Amino acid sequence: MVSRVIPVEDFDLVIFGGTGDLARRKILTGLFRRFVSGQMPNTARIIGAARSELDDQGYRDFVRTAIGEFGGDEKKDTKALDHFIGQLFYTPIDARGDGGWDRLHELVRQEVVNAYYFSVAPGLFGDIAERLHRYKIADSTSRIVVEKPFGRDLESAQELNSVLAKHFDEKQIYRIDHYLGKETVQNLMAVRFGNVLFEPLWNAQYVDHIQITVAETVGVGGRGGYYDKSGAMRDMVQNHLMQLLCLIAMEPPSKFDSDAVRDEKLKVIRALQPVETHHIVRGQYDAAGGKKSYREDAENPKSFTESFVAMKCHIANWRWANVPFYLRTGKKLKARSSEIAVVFKDLAHSIFPEDEARHRNILSIQLQPNEGMDLQVTIKEPGPGGMRLVDVPLDMTFADALGPESEDVTDAYERLIMDVMRGNQTLFMRGDEVEAAWAWTDPIINNWVEKHDVPKPYEPGSAGPEDAMMLMHRDNRRWRDIKG
Ligand code: NAD
Repeated sequence: MVSRVIPVEDFDLVIFGGTGDLARRKILTGLFRRFVSGQMPNTARIIGAARSELDDQGYRDFVRTAIGEFGGDEKKDTKALDHFIGQLFYTPIDARGDGGWDRLHELVRQEVVNAYYFSVAPGLFGDIAERLHRYKIADSTSRIVVEKPFGRDLESAQELNSVLAKHFDEKQIYRIDHYLGKETVQNLMAVRFGNVLFEPLWNAQYVDHIQITVAETVGVGGRGGYYDKSGAMRDMVQNHLMQLLCLIAMEPPSKFDSDAVRDEKLKVIRALQPVETHHIVRGQYDAAGGKKSYREDAENPKSFTESFVAMKCHIANWRWANVPFYLRTGKKLKARSSEIAVVFKDLAHSIFPEDEARHRNILSIQLQPNEGMDLQVTIKEPGPGGMRLVDVPLDMTFADALGPESEDVTDAYERLIMDVMRGNQTLFMRGDEVEAAWAWTDPIINNWVEKHDVPKPYEPGSAGPEDAMMLMHRDNRRWRDIKG
């Protein structure tokens, strides 16, 4: 199957923080891939703006090195690489100072789409937004892209929203959650709303429970200082897991349009019930096999920050009445794996012998390491052994189903940046969604702080603390195995 690449309109993209880690690893390498694929027009330009004192040539060398380090096979196309590098410009800028803004004004072409990527600490968003206006660089047609973390609680998220709203309309603001840029996440909507098969079963009558797992094998080494002030709840649950939960649980929007989709997601967050204390397990990884513990990695011997959290939540609406949603995320777990599993109910009545009766349909949606879906169905075990039943996956791994072209599943960042250029906000979080997610998260975190809650230790390479297993076992259910 040949993938169709539709070029976006000509654009100028300014990357504040254009020399940072995110720009090097994801934004610039991703843009180059879109360039090679023909989606980024060859007249489009990228303008780096950061504190380093570089000129255009210095930035071009810097980006060439970054692509050499982080780019894939596409970097072998040296003609394309040379052209792409020629489209790069740079201006040294201090977000809080006044140098460099006039040059930026000169550089940005007003007649093409212009977008400003705030790949800097959130504390600088207000300064940049204000200067973009003061120096008459951005106008009501410009778009801004902001990175996570979007606040650390409801109050700070509201502050960030109001700082941005002083200069930009909500229609101009693209809040990135890169989970939403994943192929499978969009496919989840295609599967739910593009097939007649699933939607009739997508409710409390047929679904027993839903599990969402985002497991990492890495610890917090390297970014321990930042992480220790955040923890798994803020770093993963409030944004990524919440977004996945919304997409799996939302009502069908009336059309595939950014506000229609985001209205439905918002309703899910608002319908989330407060989580009972005994339905949450926090964990923190121990030291093992000569590897450092969380506290050593975070360089905080008394840290109570969680590197793992598991919880049971409920959505108070007709569709999901009494259907538990189990969420789990953590660091230093046994495998790197992100999965949503929709576990359907037992058969109402089985015509097969009793020991053959407990088979369940499970729709598993994998986001990491490989993207794909499979549906566990029950069939007869082949052969002459009588009516023995066995569960097999109906595999929908994209690479297998769609041929070699689909193996190159576009990275989430580059897909989202192209959506910015198209003016499509569907896969970006709206301000009210982010605030609603914090409004649900805050009481949970505040309760831990008030009670000086101590996370349960867990062994690195495990599936998390024993109590997380018990959370499921008490309900006579089991977590899915964490498999890479
Ligand atoms: P970084 O520290 O590697 O880079 C920061 C960039 O900001 C540099 O280019 C620096 O020159 C610039 N900068 C710093 N202070 C500035 C100022 N006063 N004026 C102008 N420029 C200034 O950070 P990063 O890892 O690239 O992250 C950037 C943002 O993206 C952060 O908000 C981070 O939380 C978020 N983020 C990063 C990642 C990642 O994988 N690195 C992932 C998700 C979100």
